[in-house]
Amino acid sequence: MNEKLPFDMDAIAKQAVDEIEHIKDEEDLEKWRIKYFGRKGIFATLTSNLSEIEQCLRPVAGMKINNVKKQLTTLYEEKKQSLISRMQVEKGKSVFNLTLPGLSSECANLHPITLVSREIVRIFQGLGFGVHTGPEIETEFYNFEALNTPADHPARDMWDTFYLDGQKKFLLRTHTSPVQIRVLQRLTVPLRIIAIGKTFRRDAFDASHSPVFHQVEGLMVGYDINFSNLKAVLTFFLKELFGSSVNVRFLPSYFPFTEPSAEISISCVICNGKGCQTCGNTGWLEILGAGMVHPEVFRKAGLRDENLTGFAFGAGIDRIAMIKYRIDDIRLFFLNDMRFLRQFR
Ligand SMILES: [Zn+2]
Repeated sequence: MNEKLPFDMDAIAKQAVDEIEHIKDEEDLEKWRIKYFGRKGIFATLTSNLSEIEQCLRPVAGMKINNVKKQLTTLYEEKKQSLISRMQVEKGKSVFNLTLPGLSSECANLHPITLVSREIVRIFQGLGFGVHTGPEIETEFYNFEALNTPADHPARDMWDTFYLDGQKKFLLRTHTSPVQIRVLQRLTVPLRIIAIGKTFRRDAFDASHSPVFHQVEGLMVGYDINFSNLKAVLTFFLKELFGSSVNVRFLPSYFPFTEPSAEISISCVICNGKGCQTCGNTGWLEILGAGMVHPEVFRKAGLRDENLTGFAFGAGIDRIAMIKYRIDDIRLFFLNDMRFLRQFR
């Protein structure tokens, strides 16, 4: 039946496809469109000539023309879009901005407080210390009373406390030392533990103070624990944490829950002991408070064996992180500024 048609639709379609594939710009594409789809174009001519075809062949001819027309129209629209996109890219006006950075998946990193905490845990675990935690909401007994700091004790002024009730029974712990009491009540001696956590005081939020900060607390209790053990453990800890070249200094101090008590400093890691702004020109940075556990603390925790001795220590983790990473404003730890946090990989 095909042979009887006065035109070869397949050949026309093949030629149109061949031509459009070689078109490189919109001007030639428009010429192509006019050639096939224009008012006097090939399809218009074919359609108007349909009446000259034998009656019985007309539906087949009409269907063939329409099918090819549909295919070529689709081809034309695709070609037009591809030419427009290519032109926009060449002019730098692409719908896709190729200069934009790609979507990279962001890799999380640890907060500097977490990094320092993990380092401290690593050092003490290496010395056989267990890691313990305690509640952030404490009772007055665990935070003060059991630590040899009764209500009328002048040392209470050292901590400006967030009380949670009018009776001053519940409070946000001002230090991690209450964990000492809880551990002494729960575990059997000898023991050695550290506790890391958040602590709270009514401090202004400025470059060197924050109402929330982090402490590490340590406790070693047994039958022949003396001040030499305290010195050995804490000197080892500080040299592991800040490098073996730092010097460690012990000075007498006062805490109600230790006797004798010491404040422990390292030679300034910023000026190497020569004196700078960070160390207040003293050449020393105070890191730890420590001492031999006061017998009253053992008694309050329910331990009545008079031969028991032990030492305890505490340090501010925020301060250690500030010294280690040369951070001059404690607020940076809490502001969630990604530019700051991304630096700690
Ligand atoms: Zn210094």
